[in-house]
Amino acid sequence: MIDSHCHLADEAFAADLSEVVARAQAAGVQGALCILSADEPEEVARAGQVRDAWPAVRFAAAIHPHRTGAYAGRAEHAARLTRDTAVSTTAVAIGEIGLDYHYDFSPRDVQRAVFVAQIGVALELDRPVVIHTREATDDTFAVLREAGGNRVRGVMHCFSGTVDEARAALDLGFYISLAGILTFPKAESLREVARFVPLDRVLVETDAPFLAPVPHRGKRNEPAWVVETARRLADVRGLPFDPIAAQILQNYHVLFGSS
Ligand SMILES: [Zn+2]
Ligand SMILES: [Zn+2]
Repeated sequence: MIDSHCHLADEAFAADLSEVVARAQAAGVQGALCILSADEPEEVARAGQVRDAWPAVRFAAAIHPHRTGAYAGRAEHAARLTRDTAVSTTAVAIGEIGLDYHYDFSPRDVQRAVFVAQIGVALELDRPVVIHTREATDDTFAVLREAGGNRVRGVMHCFSGTVDEARAALDLGFYISLAGILTFPKAESLREVARFVPLDRVLVETDAPFLAPVPHRGKRNEPAWVVETARRLADVRGLPFDPIAAQILQNYHVLFGSS
């Protein structure tokens, strides 16, 4: 099993990182993709501690859509920060990038400009992208098509859209990553998506420290609990856990590389 999206360098884990890693390993989680906020030097510095605590961790780096407001008229500066952080942390992906029209913490035109500029970094470095999109599906796909053409590849992280939106993402060649929301009682439409996505295009993630799955809901999330989401995916598909877990691990390595 693998956690394809978590924030282990977040200060929420600074005090007990080694225990968190030990619990993940005990749960059979072999590694994780740790998302770094490229313009938060303290978090980027903690990447070293994460790597020491869990050598199997790989990194992604970028400027989150929530933080793009600081780069109005300076999208190229944002892209340079992302590029430098990705290189210095040997990141295997650029992310998370995208558009968030739910919170609208940053003006939408600035979000789009910084998104486009960071897709440029992914293409230049030949890395997949980790996409965050919330209530912005049409614009997200439009930007991906315009800025990336058919050259951009990646994953829709914490997917929360419809089956039609999942189909559009798959048509672009993207993977669909399911988070702990899959285990929530009201998430029947997401379970429909989980039944629909081809098994060779699905990933699971925690987005820890956020979004803990049932039965841990409301607590600080951690990579060990990705197993709950994978178990729910297996249930929904009517398949045993082990082959699903093996397939997810393989998908992760196909997308992010096996180094
Ligand atoms: Zn996100
Ligand atoms: Zn995240």
